[in-house]
Amino acid sequence: MKIQYIAVIFIIIILPIAMTMSYYISAQIDTINLQTQYNTKLTNSTYDSMMAFQINTANNRYSSVANSKIRDIEAAASTFYKSLSNNEDMVKQDLTKFVPAVVFTLYDGYYIYTKYENVYAGATATTLGRPQVNETELKKSQYENEGLKPYIYYACRYKKGSSNFVVNFTLDNAITIYGIFNGTYQTLSGYLINPENVTSINKNASQPLNWSVIYNDKQITGDSDAVTIRREHLTEHLLFSDGSQGDYDYLVYNGQKIYYDKNKAATPDLQETNYFIYQNYEKEYLTTAAGNEDRNGYLTSRTSGGILYSTSSVEYYINAYEFSKKVADLTRGITQKDAIDPDGNPMTFTVNTGNDEIFVADTGNDPLLSGSTFNENRMQVIRKSIETNLTTAIAQYGEFYDGQYEFRLPVIGEVDWEKITNQVSVISFMQGLPIGFKYFNNYCVITNDNNEETVRKENIYIITQNSSGQREYHLPGCMELAKPESTSHLKIIDVAYNNLSFIRQTVRISEGNYIYFYPQTRMNGSSIKTITACYHCIVNSGAVYSADEIIEGKVTGQKDDYSGEEEKANVRGSRAVDARLREIRTYYLQALGRERYDLYRFNMESFDT
Ligand SMILES: [Zn+2]
Repeated sequence: MKIQYIAVIFIIIILPIAMTMSYYISAQIDTINLQTQYNTKLTNSTYDSMMAFQINTANNRYSSVANSKIRDIEAAASTFYKSLSNNEDMVKQDLTKFVPAVVFTLYDGYYIYTKYENVYAGATATTLGRPQVNETELKKSQYENEGLKPYIYYACRYKKGSSNFVVNFTLDNAITIYGIFNGTYQTLSGYLINPENVTSINKNASQPLNWSVIYNDKQITGDSDAVTIRREHLTEHLLFSDGSQGDYDYLVYNGQKIYYDKNKAATPDLQETNYFIYQNYEKEYLTTAAGNEDRNGYLTSRTSGGILYSTSSVEYYINAYEFSKKVADLTRGITQKDAIDPDGNPMTFTVNTGNDEIFVADTGNDPLLSGSTFNENRMQVIRKSIETNLTTAIAQYGEFYDGQYEFRLPVIGEVDWEKITNQVSVISFMQGLPIGFKYFNNYCVITNDNNEETVRKENIYIITQNSSGQREYHLPGCMELAKPESTSHLKIIDVAYNNLSFIRQTVRISEGNYIYFYPQTRMNGSSIKTITACYHCIVNSGAVYSADEIIEGKVTGQKDDYSGEEEKANVRGSRAVDARLREIRTYYLQALGRERYDLYRFNMESFDT
């Protein structure tokens, strides 16, 4: 064959391949570019939405508006869609129609924002007395709704023998259980802890200031690790709209912070007490008017020597102890195998906890610890519920969509499930956008700790003070905090609060005129003594021990030469580091109990009887 023929054949074969390849590669590049753009847009919008929620809750926590949660969520959802539709620089497409659902997970349940039919499941147009119309017509008619679907609790039903009951889980160790237990109907709610750890309950009804309880590990003989939980002296710095400011003792009563103004002049004709709530950035004094006897009695019985004390922590441990014992008696023998779905069929979960009892808390199943059977089931129930309801919501969304694309729930990664089941989060989905040869299908999870919904174990910050009175706050697990005190390292542990106490608060004086304050700053004469974040907590965030290790009272870590693990500190030991860990654990457990007890649990209260 002549070389020219070979050249011609070569061109005939190679040229189309080369052209196709070049087209394919450029399309692939476009796909990746588009994918990145959509991912960025989705992440940014979800982040905006979470920030809107945070601003509406954390920064307004002093406004004490009840029942505003649904309003805050709706505002967050609208922020998400606004942020997403603001994309002129990117594509000339309405991205919002490719979002089948946005999920807002809260303390004891979640909302799904989506399009849905406002018709009872299974009902047809005729049975509802409406004119009979074409099925597809109906779906796109006035019965089509866009918005928040009804709130769904993190709930699971268990059935065994003559017991048939529902457990509502939360993001922490609080549960509500109701239904039939061994033949009788009961409903109760509270915090599940290991009751074996609680001893020496001292709860003399008339003297709450003397109440105490001992929290320790019964596995250990002797009381070297015992933590005595008792009253606490809590203080916050407040700034008022007239520009005045001060430090005030406080406690939380029925979900509301009440402050003590010991210097207030008596006003007998106004019936005002020395206690006030921070309302519209002013002191609103509580009165002695009839009907307030219980509340006023609660306050005066906790005031002594010019100081108002909080007994929330003691109350938390005593109530949790009693609740956990009751729950153990009612649910003995209940395991994961007894979980049933709404149709009565057994449920399967990603993690199988076998024959371990879920709600009987003991040393082997301590609900405060992440690896406990209770906690594993808690996370599994939340995950299963969200998965099931989202699958349905996303598939239904597809019915409103005109195109070819089939909407379905993407696979959510394990790390993301870990976040979703432990923190308040916004999960958004975007799919069906054509990108080159395939469709875009991704999701985004943004979590947030700065809200009034939940107190995570990681969110108890511990305050230390040095010899000159400079205050500093540490994350649980800070190595600097764990160092024993010495003359060169004098950091006396003062008290611990939840993370919100360290966030800047905004006071609106008038339109466009705002002033700011930090609740944990203190007055120093007429000036302000600030509080700073610990430098080591931020820099060495990798080299820390976990909140679980503080609760267990034992910290292990790498040896200095990295040849293996060693015990760094143990509350049962006698070294200086052991004593320091004992101290940290005491303040930590005291604060964890108090902050969880004081948490405003709007939804759970409706179950209390
Ligand atoms: Zn620190």
